[in-house]
Amino acid sequence: MDEDIPDGWCDDCGLPCYGVKVDEGIGPYEFWGQRCTHHDYVFKSHCCSAEILDRDPCCAECGKRETYDDGLCLKCYEEHYAEV
Ligand SMILES: [Zn+2]
Ligand SMILES: [Zn+2]
Repeated sequence: MDEDIPDGWCDDCGLPCYGVKVDEGIGPYEFWGQRCTHHDYVFKSHCCSAEILDRDPCCAECGKRETYDDGLCLKCYEEHYAEV
């Protein structure tokens, strides 16, 4: 059962998170006099109920909310690879 739970990074706070199922359906509605309930289950981050990203949105070096390549922001990336 546990493998159904996606994890990744929160699009809001940028921290690692796991998914929690939330119902984004419109809920109860009436259709031709019939009462129905609309469900639309999606996974959102457990911390902020935001989108779950499959990669870290922050620079691994300075923690800035930017990644250029290799998990680093452009500045750290350039510093990192400038001297090589
Ligand atoms: Zn979050
Ligand atoms: Zn950086």
